[in-house]
Amino acid sequence: MYMAKIHDTSKSTLALRKRKRFLLSQIQVLPDSLRASLVERFSRCGKANCHCHHGGVKHGPFYYLTQCLAVGKINKFLLKTPAQQHAAKAGIEGYRQLQELLEELSQINAELLRREEPLTGD
Ligand SMILES: [Zn+2]
Repeated sequence: MYMAKIHDTSKSTLALRKRKRFLLSQIQVLPDSLRASLVERFSRCGKANCHCHHGGVKHGPFYYLTQCLAVGKINKFLLKTPAQQHAAKAGIEGYRQLQELLEELSQINAELLRREEPLTGD
């Protein structure tokens, strides 16, 4: 579940506007953005006589991409190659950074509204 980081919006309106301009200059959508998590799993195989069923080490690690789409609705699949795993990691990081910038922008905009200031302008 996504939890917002709380940003300091106690600065002067001028400082908030300056921060807002900075955030806008930083915001760019990476084409490979991905809202998902990468999970590492070790598991047992289908062979009943394999060591993994008799106290031996399990197989893995296997990397799965999971994406929560709605409550109880999770899209999950195996990332088979290191290239897929790297692409997923980079996409997830890109999405996370964008989300952080947007969240701070949103908190500044809410604060400007609370102060009864226009959202744009100097
Ligand atoms: Zn096994």
